[in-house]
Amino acid sequence: MKLMLVICDGMADRPSKELNGMTPLEAAEVPNMDKLAKLGQSGLMDVIAPGIVPGSDTAHLALLGFDPRKVYTGRGPFEAAGTGVEVRKGDVAFRCNFATVDENMNVLDRRASRISEGTDQLAQAINGMKIEDIEIIFKEGVDHRAVLVLRGPGLHPDITEVDPHESGKVLESKPNVPEAEKTARILNEFTKRSYDLLKLHPVNIDRQSPLRQPANIVLARGSGSPPNVPSFTEYHNGLNGAAVVGISLVRGLCSLSGLDLIDVPGATGSIDTDINAKVEAAIEALDTYDFVLLHFKAPDLFGHDGDAKGKTQYIQKIDLALEKILHVKNTIICITADHSTPCSVMDHTADPVPVLVYGPGLRHDSIECFNESDAMSGGLGHIKGHELLQMMAGLAGRNPKFGA
Ligand code: ZN
Ligand code: ZN
Repeated sequence: MKLMLVICDGMADRPSKELNGMTPLEAAEVPNMDKLAKLGQSGLMDVIAPGIVPGSDTAHLALLGFDPRKVYTGRGPFEAAGTGVEVRKGDVAFRCNFATVDENMNVLDRRASRISEGTDQLAQAINGMKIEDIEIIFKEGVDHRAVLVLRGPGLHPDITEVDPHESGKVLESKPNVPEAEKTARILNEFTKRSYDLLKLHPVNIDRQSPLRQPANIVLARGSGSPPNVPSFTEYHNGLNGAAVVGISLVRGLCSLSGLDLIDVPGATGSIDTDINAKVEAAIEALDTYDFVLLHFKAPDLFGHDGDAKGKTQYIQKIDLALEKILHVKNTIICITADHSTPCSVMDHTADPVPVLVYGPGLRHDSIECFNESDAMSGGLGHIKGHELLQMMAGLAGRNPKFGA
Protein backbone atom coordinates (compact mmCIF):
# COMPACT_ATOMS: atom_id res chain seq x y z
CA MET A 1 0.00 0.00 0.00
CA LYS A 2 1.01 3.60 -0.65
CA LEU A 3 0.84 6.68 1.59
CA MET A 4 -0.55 10.13 0.84
CA LEU A 5 -0.26 13.03 3.26
CA VAL A 6 -2.34 16.15 2.53
CA ILE A 7 -1.22 19.18 4.53
CA CYS A 8 -3.44 22.25 4.57
CA ASP A 9 -1.03 24.82 6.01
CA GLY A 10 -2.40 26.58 9.10
CA MET A 11 -5.93 25.22 8.47
CA ALA A 12 -6.68 24.51 12.15
CA ASP A 13 -8.28 27.44 13.95
CA ARG A 14 -10.30 28.63 16.95
CA PRO A 15 -13.99 29.60 17.20
CA SER A 16 -14.59 32.81 15.30
CA LYS A 17 -17.11 35.60 15.95
CA GLU A 18 -17.70 36.12 12.22
CA LEU A 19 -18.63 32.44 11.92
CA ASN A 20 -21.04 32.36 14.87
CA GLY A 21 -18.56 30.69 17.14
CA MET A 22 -17.44 28.05 14.66
CA THR A 23 -13.94 27.50 13.29
CA PRO A 24 -13.49 27.92 9.51
CA LEU A 25 -13.22 24.13 9.16
CA GLU A 26 -16.47 23.69 11.13
CA ALA A 27 -18.23 26.38 9.12
CA ALA A 28 -17.03 25.06 5.75
CA GLU A 29 -19.00 22.55 3.69
CA VAL A 30 -16.45 19.78 3.27
CA PRO A 31 -18.35 16.68 2.13
CA ASN A 32 -15.23 14.92 0.89
CA MET A 33 -13.16 15.38 4.03
CA ASP A 34 -16.25 14.42 6.06
CA LYS A 35 -16.62 11.24 4.05
CA LEU A 36 -13.00 10.27 4.68
CA ALA A 37 -13.44 11.06 8.41
CA LYS A 38 -16.56 8.89 8.50
CA LEU A 39 -14.87 5.96 6.76
CA GLY A 40 -11.61 6.36 8.67
CA GLN A 41 -10.33 7.56 12.02
CA SER A 42 -9.82 11.03 13.44
CA GLY A 43 -7.81 12.51 16.25
CA LEU A 44 -5.83 15.48 17.44
CA MET A 45 -2.13 16.01 16.92
CA ASP A 46 0.49 18.09 18.70
CA VAL A 47 2.70 18.64 15.68
CA ILE A 48 5.88 19.22 17.70
CA ALA A 49 4.88 18.86 21.37
CA PRO A 50 2.13 20.23 23.64
CA GLY A 51 2.45 23.99 24.03
CA ILE A 52 5.13 24.39 21.36
CA VAL A 53 4.16 26.89 18.65
CA PRO A 54 5.39 25.39 15.36
CA GLY A 55 6.90 27.28 12.46
CA SER A 56 5.97 25.83 9.09
CA ASP A 57 9.51 24.50 8.70
CA THR A 58 9.87 22.79 12.08
CA ALA A 59 6.30 21.47 11.74
CA HIS A 60 7.01 19.85 8.37
CA LEU A 61 10.23 18.29 9.69
CA ALA A 62 8.13 16.71 12.45
CA LEU A 63 5.48 15.52 10.00
CA LEU A 64 8.21 13.87 7.93
CA GLY A 65 9.10 11.89 11.06
CA PHE A 66 12.17 13.84 12.18
CA ASP A 67 12.82 15.52 15.53
CA PRO A 68 13.04 19.22 14.64
CA ARG A 69 14.94 19.95 17.84
CA LYS A 70 17.73 17.72 16.56
CA VAL A 71 17.76 18.47 12.84
CA TYR A 72 16.62 22.11 12.51
CA THR A 73 19.42 24.57 11.77
CA GLY A 74 17.52 27.68 10.65
CA ARG A 75 15.23 28.71 7.82
CA GLY A 76 17.84 30.01 5.37
CA PRO A 77 18.94 26.64 3.92
CA PHE A 78 15.33 25.59 3.20
CA GLU A 79 14.57 28.88 1.43
CA ALA A 80 17.78 28.57 -0.58
CA ALA A 81 17.07 24.98 -1.64
CA GLY A 82 13.44 25.92 -2.41
CA THR A 83 14.65 28.72 -4.68
CA GLY A 84 16.87 26.28 -6.56
CA VAL A 85 20.23 27.10 -4.96
CA GLU A 86 22.27 24.12 -3.85
CA VAL A 87 23.35 24.20 -0.20
CA ARG A 88 26.50 22.23 0.67
CA LYS A 89 28.08 21.15 3.92
CA GLY A 90 29.99 24.10 5.39
CA ASP A 91 27.82 26.73 3.64
CA VAL A 92 25.81 29.30 5.55
CA ALA A 93 22.48 30.20 3.90
CA PHE A 94 20.13 33.14 4.44
CA ARG A 95 16.78 34.35 3.21
CA CYS A 96 16.85 37.97 2.13
CA ASN A 97 14.72 40.96 1.26
CA PHE A 98 15.49 43.64 -1.27
CA ALA A 99 14.88 46.76 0.82
CA THR A 100 15.12 50.53 0.64
CA VAL A 101 17.49 52.58 2.79
CA ASP A 102 18.49 56.26 2.81
CA GLU A 103 22.14 57.34 2.66
CA ASN A 104 22.42 57.02 6.47
CA MET A 105 21.34 53.35 6.30
CA ASN A 106 17.92 54.03 7.80
CA VAL A 107 15.46 51.45 6.52
CA LEU A 108 12.62 53.21 4.67
CA ASP A 109 10.89 50.08 3.37
CA ARG A 110 11.87 46.50 4.24
CA ARG A 111 10.32 45.28 0.97
CA ALA A 112 11.30 48.03 -1.47
CA SER A 113 7.63 48.68 -2.34
CA ARG A 114 7.29 44.91 -2.88
CA ILE A 115 9.40 45.14 -6.03
CA SER A 116 8.44 42.46 -8.52
CA GLU A 117 10.30 43.41 -11.71
CA GLY A 118 14.01 43.56 -12.43
CA THR A 119 15.12 41.62 -9.36
CA ASP A 120 16.85 39.10 -11.64
CA GLN A 121 19.08 41.91 -12.94
CA LEU A 122 19.75 43.17 -9.42
CA ALA A 123 20.64 39.63 -8.34
CA GLN A 124 23.04 39.26 -11.28
CA ALA A 125 24.91 42.35 -10.10
CA ILE A 126 25.55 40.67 -6.74
CA ASN A 127 25.85 36.97 -7.54
CA GLY A 128 29.36 35.60 -7.99
CA MET A 129 31.32 38.24 -6.11
CA LYS A 130 33.95 37.27 -3.55
CA ILE A 131 34.49 38.69 -0.08
CA GLU A 132 37.87 37.61 1.31
CA ASP A 133 37.96 33.88 0.41
CA ILE A 134 34.18 33.47 0.53
CA GLU A 135 32.09 32.93 -2.59
CA ILE A 136 28.77 34.81 -2.72
CA ILE A 137 25.87 32.91 -4.29
CA PHE A 138 22.78 35.08 -4.58
CA LYS A 139 19.46 34.48 -6.35
CA GLU A 140 16.20 36.37 -6.56
CA GLY A 141 12.98 34.74 -5.34
CA VAL A 142 9.34 35.80 -5.64
CA ASP A 143 8.74 39.59 -5.43
CA HIS A 144 11.13 41.29 -2.97
CA ARG A 145 12.56 38.00 -1.70
CA ALA A 146 15.94 36.47 -2.43
CA VAL A 147 18.40 33.94 -1.01
CA LEU A 148 22.09 34.18 -0.15
CA VAL A 149 24.59 31.35 0.30
CA LEU A 150 28.10 31.98 1.65
CA ARG A 151 30.59 29.30 0.59
CA GLY A 152 34.15 28.90 1.80
CA PRO A 153 36.26 27.94 4.81
CA GLY A 154 35.61 28.85 8.44
CA LEU A 155 31.91 29.79 8.34
CA HIS A 156 29.46 29.39 11.23
CA PRO A 157 25.76 30.40 11.23
CA ASP A 158 25.44 31.64 14.81
CA ILE A 159 25.38 35.42 14.23
CA THR A 160 22.98 38.28 14.97
CA GLU A 161 20.83 39.85 12.24
CA VAL A 162 21.39 42.95 10.12
CA ASP A 163 17.66 43.36 9.42
CA PRO A 164 16.08 45.67 12.04
CA HIS A 165 12.66 44.17 11.10
CA GLU A 166 10.95 47.48 11.94
CA SER A 167 12.12 50.93 10.92
CA GLY A 168 15.55 51.97 12.15
CA LYS A 169 19.11 51.63 11.00
CA VAL A 170 20.56 48.53 9.34
CA LEU A 171 22.18 46.62 12.21
CA GLU A 172 25.73 45.37 12.43
CA SER A 173 25.86 41.58 12.62
CA LYS A 174 27.81 40.23 15.59
CA PRO A 175 28.99 36.68 16.32
CA ASN A 176 27.14 34.80 19.06
CA VAL A 177 30.07 32.40 19.36
CA PRO A 178 33.78 33.08 18.63
CA GLU A 179 33.76 30.67 15.61
CA ALA A 180 31.19 32.90 13.86
CA GLU A 181 33.35 36.05 13.91
CA LYS A 182 34.32 35.68 10.24
CA THR A 183 30.72 35.04 9.10
CA ALA A 184 29.46 38.19 10.83
CA ARG A 185 32.28 40.20 9.22
CA ILE A 186 31.50 38.78 5.75
CA LEU A 187 27.77 39.47 6.14
CA ASN A 188 28.42 43.09 7.20
CA GLU A 189 30.67 43.58 4.19
CA PHE A 190 28.08 41.90 1.93
CA THR A 191 25.35 44.24 3.19
CA LYS A 192 27.52 47.29 2.56
CA ARG A 193 28.55 46.10 -0.92
CA SER A 194 24.97 45.30 -1.87
CA TYR A 195 24.17 48.97 -1.24
CA ASP A 196 27.19 50.13 -3.28
CA LEU A 197 26.19 47.88 -6.20
CA LEU A 198 22.45 48.54 -6.15
CA LYS A 199 22.09 52.23 -5.33
CA LEU A 200 22.91 53.34 -8.88
CA HIS A 201 21.76 50.21 -10.69
CA PRO A 202 19.69 50.98 -13.83
CA VAL A 203 16.70 49.06 -12.39
CA ASN A 204 16.63 51.53 -9.51
CA ILE A 205 17.05 54.72 -11.56
CA ASP A 206 13.35 54.93 -12.38
CA ARG A 207 12.30 53.75 -8.91
CA GLN A 208 12.43 57.01 -6.99
CA SER A 209 8.81 57.63 -5.99
CA PRO A 210 7.21 56.81 -2.62
CA LEU A 211 5.16 54.04 -4.29
CA ARG A 212 8.14 52.61 -6.15
CA GLN A 213 11.09 52.85 -3.80
CA PRO A 214 14.50 51.72 -5.05
CA ALA A 215 15.65 48.24 -4.07
CA ASN A 216 19.02 49.57 -2.99
CA ILE A 217 20.15 47.10 -0.33
CA VAL A 218 19.88 43.41 0.54
CA LEU A 219 18.92 42.51 4.12
CA ALA A 220 19.73 38.90 4.98
CA ARG A 221 18.26 36.93 7.88
CA GLY A 222 17.52 33.40 9.10
CA SER A 223 21.13 32.20 8.85
CA GLY A 224 21.59 28.44 8.91
CA SER A 225 23.85 25.64 7.82
CA PRO A 226 22.43 22.61 5.96
CA PRO A 227 20.10 20.66 8.28
CA ASN A 228 21.22 17.37 9.82
CA VAL A 229 18.35 15.48 8.19
CA PRO A 230 18.88 11.74 7.73
CA SER A 231 17.99 10.14 4.39
CA PHE A 232 14.19 9.92 4.20
CA THR A 233 14.30 6.53 2.53
CA GLU A 234 16.73 4.99 5.03
CA TYR A 235 14.89 6.54 7.98
CA HIS A 236 11.54 5.17 6.80
CA ASN A 237 12.46 1.56 5.98
CA GLY A 238 12.95 2.07 2.26
CA LEU A 239 9.99 4.36 1.48
CA ASN A 240 10.69 6.63 -1.47
CA GLY A 241 8.79 9.89 -1.60
CA ALA A 242 7.81 12.97 -3.56
CA ALA A 243 6.20 16.30 -2.76
CA VAL A 244 3.73 18.49 -4.64
CA VAL A 245 4.25 21.90 -3.07
CA GLY A 246 4.48 25.46 -4.35
CA ILE A 247 5.98 27.55 -1.56
CA SER A 248 9.78 27.75 -1.49
CA LEU A 249 10.27 27.15 2.24
CA VAL A 250 8.44 23.81 2.17
CA ARG A 251 9.85 22.90 -1.26
CA GLY A 252 13.38 23.35 0.05
CA LEU A 253 12.61 21.44 3.22
CA CYS A 254 11.14 18.51 1.29
CA SER A 255 14.04 18.49 -1.13
CA LEU A 256 16.71 18.61 1.62
CA SER A 257 14.81 15.82 3.41
CA GLY A 258 15.23 13.59 0.37
CA LEU A 259 11.83 13.89 -1.32
CA ASP A 260 11.66 14.49 -5.06
CA LEU A 261 9.85 17.70 -6.03
CA ILE A 262 7.12 17.40 -8.62
CA ASP A 263 6.69 20.64 -10.53
CA VAL A 264 3.10 21.44 -11.44
CA PRO A 265 2.32 24.23 -13.91
CA GLY A 266 0.09 26.74 -12.13
CA ALA A 267 1.27 25.80 -8.61
CA THR A 268 2.25 29.11 -7.02
CA GLY A 269 2.36 28.43 -3.28
CA SER A 270 -0.31 31.07 -2.82
CA ILE A 271 -4.05 31.74 -3.08
CA ASP A 272 -4.08 31.72 -6.90
CA THR A 273 -2.56 28.22 -7.13
CA ASP A 274 -4.12 25.55 -9.35
CA ILE A 275 -5.57 23.26 -6.68
CA ASN A 276 -6.95 20.71 -9.14
CA ALA A 277 -3.67 20.37 -11.01
CA LYS A 278 -1.85 19.75 -7.73
CA VAL A 279 -4.31 17.05 -6.63
CA GLU A 280 -4.04 15.34 -10.02
CA ALA A 281 -0.23 15.48 -9.96
CA ALA A 282 -0.14 14.01 -6.45
CA ILE A 283 -2.43 11.13 -7.42
CA GLU A 284 -0.35 10.45 -10.52
CA ALA A 285 2.83 10.44 -8.43
CA LEU A 286 1.49 7.50 -6.43
CA ASP A 287 2.22 5.34 -9.50
CA THR A 288 5.94 6.03 -9.02
CA TYR A 289 6.39 6.77 -5.32
CA ASP A 290 5.51 5.03 -2.05
CA PHE A 291 4.82 8.31 -0.28
CA VAL A 292 3.42 11.58 -1.66
CA LEU A 293 3.09 14.83 0.27
CA LEU A 294 0.53 17.32 -1.08
CA HIS A 295 0.69 20.81 0.38
CA PHE A 296 -1.66 23.82 0.22
CA LYS A 297 -0.36 27.10 1.62
CA ALA A 298 -3.39 29.42 1.37
CA PRO A 299 -5.32 28.56 4.60
CA ASP A 300 -2.33 29.88 6.58
CA LEU A 301 -2.35 33.14 4.59
CA PHE A 302 -6.03 33.74 5.41
CA GLY A 303 -5.24 32.98 9.07
CA HIS A 304 -2.44 35.57 9.13
CA ASP A 305 -4.80 38.09 7.52
CA GLY A 306 -7.52 37.36 10.10
CA ASP A 307 -9.97 36.55 7.29
CA ALA A 308 -12.19 33.78 8.72
CA LYS A 309 -14.72 33.90 5.88
CA GLY A 310 -12.03 33.80 3.20
CA LYS A 311 -10.40 30.87 4.98
CA THR A 312 -13.73 29.01 5.12
CA GLN A 313 -14.29 29.48 1.40
CA TYR A 314 -10.78 28.39 0.54
CA ILE A 315 -11.10 25.22 2.64
CA GLN A 316 -14.25 24.45 0.61
CA LYS A 317 -12.27 24.85 -2.61
CA ILE A 318 -9.64 22.40 -1.40
CA ASP A 319 -12.36 19.95 -0.36
CA LEU A 320 -13.95 20.11 -3.80
CA ALA A 321 -10.66 19.22 -5.45
CA LEU A 322 -10.06 16.38 -2.98
CA GLU A 323 -13.08 14.55 -4.40
CA LYS A 324 -10.60 12.82 -6.72
CA ILE A 325 -8.70 11.21 -3.87
CA LEU A 326 -11.83 9.34 -2.77
CA HIS A 327 -11.20 7.11 -5.80
CA VAL A 328 -7.55 6.39 -5.04
CA LYS A 329 -7.00 2.70 -4.34
CA ASN A 330 -4.57 0.86 -2.05
CA THR A 331 -3.44 4.00 -0.25
CA ILE A 332 -3.43 5.24 3.34
CA ILE A 333 -4.61 8.85 3.06
CA CYS A 334 -4.10 11.41 5.79
CA ILE A 335 -5.44 14.96 5.90
CA THR A 336 -4.17 17.40 8.49
CA ALA A 337 -2.55 20.81 9.09
CA ASP A 338 1.01 21.68 10.06
CA HIS A 339 -0.20 23.97 12.86
CA SER A 340 -3.11 26.21 13.83
CA THR A 341 -3.22 29.76 12.46
CA PRO A 342 -6.32 31.14 14.20
CA CYS A 343 -7.86 34.15 12.44
CA SER A 344 -8.44 35.70 15.88
CA VAL A 345 -4.69 35.55 16.63
CA MET A 346 -3.40 36.16 13.07
CA ASP A 347 -0.39 33.98 13.83
CA HIS A 348 0.51 30.38 14.62
CA THR A 349 -0.55 28.93 17.96
CA ALA A 350 0.20 25.72 19.84
CA ASP A 351 -3.40 24.43 19.59
CA PRO A 352 -3.30 20.81 18.40
CA VAL A 353 -4.53 20.16 14.85
CA PRO A 354 -7.21 17.73 13.65
CA VAL A 355 -5.97 14.73 11.73
CA LEU A 356 -7.79 12.00 9.81
CA VAL A 357 -6.53 8.77 8.30
CA TYR A 358 -8.40 6.64 5.86
CA GLY A 359 -7.49 3.51 3.96
CA PRO A 360 -8.70 0.07 2.97
CA GLY A 361 -9.32 -2.29 5.87
CA LEU A 362 -8.98 0.31 8.61
CA ARG A 363 -11.18 0.29 11.71
CA HIS A 364 -13.76 3.10 11.88
CA ASP A 365 -14.55 5.34 14.81
CA SER A 366 -17.81 7.19 15.43
CA ILE A 367 -16.65 10.53 13.95
CA GLU A 368 -18.65 11.70 10.92
CA CYS A 369 -17.23 15.19 10.27
CA PHE A 370 -13.70 16.50 9.93
CA ASN A 371 -13.04 19.45 12.22
CA GLU A 372 -11.23 20.49 15.39
CA SER A 373 -13.96 19.68 17.93
CA ASP A 374 -15.15 16.34 16.51
CA ALA A 375 -11.55 15.20 16.20
CA MET A 376 -11.18 15.49 19.99
CA SER A 377 -13.19 12.31 20.50
CA GLY A 378 -11.81 10.33 17.53
CA GLY A 379 -10.23 6.90 17.55
CA LEU A 380 -6.70 8.10 16.88
CA GLY A 381 -6.69 9.89 20.22
CA HIS A 382 -3.96 12.43 20.69
CA ILE A 383 -0.78 11.84 18.72
CA LYS A 384 2.46 13.72 18.06
CA GLY A 385 3.55 14.98 14.66
CA HIS A 386 6.70 12.88 14.40
CA GLU A 387 4.63 9.70 14.98
CA LEU A 388 2.25 10.34 12.09
CA LEU A 389 4.24 8.96 9.17
CA GLN A 390 5.36 5.94 11.16
CA MET A 391 1.72 5.27 12.04
CA MET A 392 0.64 5.61 8.40
CA ALA A 393 3.44 3.26 7.31
CA GLY A 394 2.27 0.77 9.93
CA LEU A 395 -1.32 0.92 8.67
CA ALA A 396 -0.02 0.43 5.14
CA GLY A 397 1.82 -2.71 6.29
CA ARG A 398 5.21 -1.22 5.46
CA ASN A 399 6.95 -1.43 8.83
CA PRO A 400 8.94 -4.54 9.72
CA LYS A 401 8.00 -6.54 12.80
CA PHE A 402 9.82 -5.45 15.96
CA GLY A 403 10.94 -8.70 17.59
CA ALA A 404 10.14 -12.31 16.77
ZN1 ZN B 1 2.65 26.40 8.17
ZN1 ZN C 1 2.09 30.94 8.82
